Amino acid sequence: MDSDTLEAFQSELTCSICMNCFLDPITIDCGHSFCRPCLSLCWEEGQSPRNCPECRGIEERPHFQTNIVLKSLASLARQARADHDHSSEEQICVTHQEAKGLFCEADQTLLCGPCSERPEHAAHSHSPIHKAAEESREKFLKRMSSLWKMREEMQLILNQEAKKTRSFKKYVTLRKVMIKFEYQRRHPLLQEEKKPHLEALKKEAKEICLQLKESVFRMTQYIERLREMYRELTEMCHKPDTELLQAMGNVLEMTYLAQMQTPQPVNPELTCWPVAGILDTLNNFRVDNVLTQTTIHHLSLDDASVMSGDDPQGMSRQLDGGESFVAWGAQAFTSGRHYWELDVTHFSNWILGVSKDILTSDTIIRINYEEAFLLFSEKVNDQYSLFTNSPPLVQFVKRPLGKIGVFLDYDNGALSFYDVSRGSLIHSFLPSSISSPLKPFLCLRSPR
Ligand SMILES: [Zn+2]
Ligand SMILES: [Zn+2]
Ligand SMILES: [Zn+2]
Ligand SMILES: [Zn+2]
Repeated sequence: MDSDTLEAFQSELTCSICMNCFLDPITIDCGHSFCRPCLSLCWEEGQSPRNCPECRGIEERPHFQTNIVLKSLASLARQARADHDHSSEEQICVTHQEAKGLFCEADQTLLCGPCSERPEHAAHSHSPIHKAAEESREKFLKRMSSLWKMREEMQLILNQEAKKTRSFKKYVTLRKVMIKFEYQRRHPLLQEEKKPHLEALKKEAKEICLQLKESVFRMTQYIERLREMYRELTEMCHKPDTELLQAMGNVLEMTYLAQMQTPQPVNPELTCWPVAGILDTLNNFRVDNVLTQTTIHHLSLDDASVMSGDDPQGMSRQLDGGESFVAWGAQAFTSGRHYWELDVTHFSNWILGVSKDILTSDTIIRINYEEAFLLFSEKVNDQYSLFTNSPPLVQFVKRPLGKIGVFLDYDNGALSFYDVSRGSLIHSFLPSSISSPLKPFLCLRSPR
């Protein structure tokens, strides 16, 4: 190929973002093509809608297949370039005065023909430089795709961590109110007792906020590092064959190391401070055998077993597989104060509290969340979480292990949950107006 034709041929195979020969080219809807890494980095800046860097056409598709024809042509163009630049790039073997045209994968070195026949290389496979370099580019691209995926996953974790920080702060504010309410209700004279409790909460919350802040920072740094590595690998792929081959080992090792140091999210959990004498007080209102109606549900994976009447918060709980034990009171409370305890010792997933209506069929237990006070426990990926309905609020307290105390103060429209073994408060629904009769409710999921 004469040099004019070569030039024309090469310019057709040049990415307009990096001005290099296409690397893993993709063709977007407007017909323009770019290196996949170039476009990923370009769009990653969060531009929305995503535009073609060349014609500004809007791109809707999230994923693209490699343009395989362009990819082979680009490889040929790189080869042509290498052949053309031969003399400048080529390394000469000092011993044999021959061009080093082969690459030894085992030793990660360039060899001339006679060198490759020496006994120490007898068991190795040696390939021509360009072929070896193209194979390395493929390896890099694989690595890059996994780095990019990690970056995306880490971004999601980071978003959750930031969200967690916001909800934790809100939670602490509400918890202060709950604690004050708890002491107030027991006795107005106990105001002094609540002080150390509130102080401890304040101190602990401050520490956790700091941990969360550090965690967000670590994750942000890590994402930046992954992105930087991705960019370095992209540049590496565009390097001439010999340079690429000699740097390959170190670069891959560096990315492996980075992938092993993934930052872990913080699990904020406040200490449950016991409220002195609370259980004695509550036991004055004790009622036994509140759950008189029971049923066992056998649910398949696709059945939602506990649903809200309407589900504005997306709070429907998809209870997957296994058996559910569901119990509720035939009698509803319409006044007074009532306290009962429920044992959840052997269960990770459960729902308990009070509700106005409980409708059951073979596959569905329907509860209207608007007229229910519920506490949920869920285990996802070995992580327990506790939360309540309306408002759907995560409980940043230690998971109760034994019995849960439920105290309904109907006349004041308040309901509280207690960790019986610790004698501590889990959550209070603060006074509101209740007008409907409320039935005790419990749903236990069998351990799987
Ligand atoms: Zn490019
Ligand atoms: Zn375009
Ligand atoms: Zn040699
Ligand atoms: Zn060798």
